[in-house]
Amino acid sequence: MEQSELKQNSAKDNSADTMTNINLDRALCRIAHIHKGIVEVLRYPKRVISVTFPIEMDDGSVQIFKGCRVVHNRTLGPGKGGIRFHPDVDLNEVSALAALMTWKCALIEVPFGGAKGAVICDPKKLSSHELRRITRRFISELGDNIGPYIDIPSPDLYTNEQTMSWVFDTYDVMHSGNNNRAVVTGKPVALGGSVGRREATGRGVCYAARHFIGKHMVPGLSNLNGATVAIQGFGNVGAVVAEQMHCMGAKIIALSDSQGGIIDKEGLNLAEVAAYKREHGSLIGLPGTMSTTNDALLEVDCDILVPAALSHQICAHNAEQIKAKLVVEAANGPITPEGDRILAGKGIQVLPDILANAGGVTVSYFEWVQNLENQQWELDEVNEKLLKKMNKAVDVSVERLKSLTAEEGEQSEDGHAYPLDLRTAALIIALDKLVAVTSQRGIWP
Ligand code: NAD
Repeated sequence: MEQSELKQNSAKDNSADTMTNINLDRALCRIAHIHKGIVEVLRYPKRVISVTFPIEMDDGSVQIFKGCRVVHNRTLGPGKGGIRFHPDVDLNEVSALAALMTWKCALIEVPFGGAKGAVICDPKKLSSHELRRITRRFISELGDNIGPYIDIPSPDLYTNEQTMSWVFDTYDVMHSGNNNRAVVTGKPVALGGSVGRREATGRGVCYAARHFIGKHMVPGLSNLNGATVAIQGFGNVGAVVAEQMHCMGAKIIALSDSQGGIIDKEGLNLAEVAAYKREHGSLIGLPGTMSTTNDALLEVDCDILVPAALSHQICAHNAEQIKAKLVVEAANGPITPEGDRILAGKGIQVLPDILANAGGVTVSYFEWVQNLENQQWELDEVNEKLLKKMNKAVDVSVERLKSLTAEEGEQSEDGHAYPLDLRTAALIIALDKLVAVTSQRGIWP
């Protein structure tokens, strides 16, 4: 792709599919040898299913809901990716998230392709009964387009172990007589879930950050001990990141949820935070803390910033104000390409989503294997395997970044619109693998 085209794209880098394509082009313009025709396939989802269905609400009324499931690519195996429930989600974003899953699975080396699903709804305004009916109806609408060897959902934004139980049960009712446990991951342990899956994404984020920092990749930060951390999002991922970072010696000084954030420069007491959130449904107002907005939380003076909520949080508009030395993308797509460019200009390191939050799909893979073999591994075994995968992915990404940097240094002209960073290096590793396997398999027929 021409650099002028790339620059044009950057002007609208807030749309999810544009962001995916810009990031893809950032990688492609740095790998001359790659088969461009095969990569072109990766710009488009392989299969998109959109469904519309009615649900009887608790008050007897009937409401229409829309959902979708996108399989981006199946070169490496069945589709794998979360189901999110959110009022603002759309097909464009789900397609972009499915592509991220393709890169992530290739990078972390699990035998899955990328997928993602969503139902447009506001879970905060729905009862548990209504959520159950929505989940069941959505899964029945997807029919045989999901399955243990076809496409395997997991939790994402505003879905959890309970949602995955309903997914399993619905599929199991539709396919009775089989061992159907491997159709969905992130289930409760009693239902065939893996121990350690609930914490896996957050734990993987911390393993990756610790290893990356330990490799002296972040100027001014040599370990997590005493490092100050701000986290946007206090859900499944954000709360575990807070707890694990604290266990690794870091000081959590700021946290937020959808309603806003809290700051305590001396370090938040996480047990008090969790108890307050349980009782009040919000973090705001915890005694001894200063309240802040979600926007301001991102700009807090800290060593490590962890966006663990929504996409597009750090962009052209606010990246200049970020003060952290390292941004760790626990969420999917929290930094836009323009945000990347500004952060790089300020010397701020970024641990990209496809690397940082790959712990979730890694332990989902472990769960799938355990389900197919009717086994239950111990927590130590799960965590040890997760640690190895995360450290290896950090190692290969950093090595690739170093070799690309050396190559680029040798070239006389540097006409790239975006800086060479870890996101690009990690994506290049994923693309290399996807293109190699596609070539080995051959284009059908
Ligand atoms: P969750 O629903 O458990 O938690 C989301 C959190 O974000 C909540 O605390 C919510 O209050 C907060 N939030 C919502 N809107 C916000 C806003 N505008 N500003 C600040 N905070 C806001 O979801 P989760 O599973 O923790 O997922 C969080 C992110 O991590 C998502 O981007 C998801 O795609 C990504 N992720 C999740 C997993 C997983 O295993 N759950 C795996 C990989 C990536």
